[in-house]
Amino acid sequence: MQVSEGIYQLLTPFPEFSFEDAKMLRRQLEEHPRVTKGLPYVLPYMIKRGGDTVLVDCGWNTDNAYQALEAGMQEHGSHPTEIQKLIITHVHPDHYGMAGRLKQIASCDVVLHEKDAEVITDRYLAPKQLTDNMSGFMSLNGVPELNAPTMARGSMGMIDRVAAVPADTEVKGGEMFKVGDFDFQIIWTPGHSPGHICLYEPNRKILLTGDHVLPTITPNVSIHTQTHGSPLGDYMRSLEKLVDLDVELVLPAHEFEIRDLKKRLREIEDHHEIRLEEMVNCVDAGGSTAWEVAGRVKWATGMLADFEPFMQRAAVGETLAHLEYLFELGRLSKVMRGKTLYWLPV
Ligand SMILES: [Zn+2]
Ligand SMILES: [Zn+2]
Repeated sequence: MQVSEGIYQLLTPFPEFSFEDAKMLRRQLEEHPRVTKGLPYVLPYMIKRGGDTVLVDCGWNTDNAYQALEAGMQEHGSHPTEIQKLIITHVHPDHYGMAGRLKQIASCDVVLHEKDAEVITDRYLAPKQLTDNMSGFMSLNGVPELNAPTMARGSMGMIDRVAAVPADTEVKGGEMFKVGDFDFQIIWTPGHSPGHICLYEPNRKILLTGDHVLPTITPNVSIHTQTHGSPLGDYMRSLEKLVDLDVELVLPAHEFEIRDLKKRLREIEDHHEIRLEEMVNCVDAGGSTAWEVAGRVKWATGMLADFEPFMQRAAVGETLAHLEYLFELGRLSKVMRGKTLYWLPV
């Protein structure tokens, strides 16, 4: 679907969904936004202008997703072999998974932010170490021994669906690049991922936001073994970076387009304010672990005890991001008791 002159929104399904079902959900969600059980699709964007063909994000490395990408490009007279530049907003498997396959067939220039490029080996090429680190991380955060091993292995199945490839070009943010007569600026927006980037075309007033800004859902902002510092603090500051941009059309990587960027930014900030208050109230006067806090929070998809191990891990990671941000704001303190980290009200 052409969303703006020279910019085409494609769709690749998640592994659990057929292309047809994902397309149907794309139409339904725009009419009736709702939380679905798992994301059904990712939206890559093809920018085609003056003989240049750039793809922003791709999809999981499944045959279904590749065929969907191929069909989408063919609809607009293109083919994946024509991709000259593949820009990945961040290294998560739904955005980056197919990169290695596209690199092979198109010899394209794979562009990633340096902060995400540096985790490719640990996360996808040699991930054993990550699982080991994860177990220690689980006990640090009070996850009961019964739950910890399955939670640590939670995401290993996804590695089969990622064709990892190193970045050809690493960016820092602030760079400009041309696609025909379009001038895109790379904006570094860490938070959801340390190397997340958005792409801004100021003349066309278009912003591609990846997972940073989505129309109804908020991206998981999480602390895990590869995180440093305060990702939620980074995320909130990355929202601020976009507030003053002149934007008429926001193109996110999930759900559907956004027209009013400023309104959506305010909504997301409000959401986190409410969640931060809730988290503070879930911390006992005598101290609580992240696992305990996560078990008390009301998640959009239910309660922690009912989640799949992978979702439990995501919930603990997201809880930690909020606790760490509250610590950064001076509203919580933290203390080690034995091998376990406790959070305390200030
Ligand atoms: Zn993501
Ligand atoms: Zn995503």
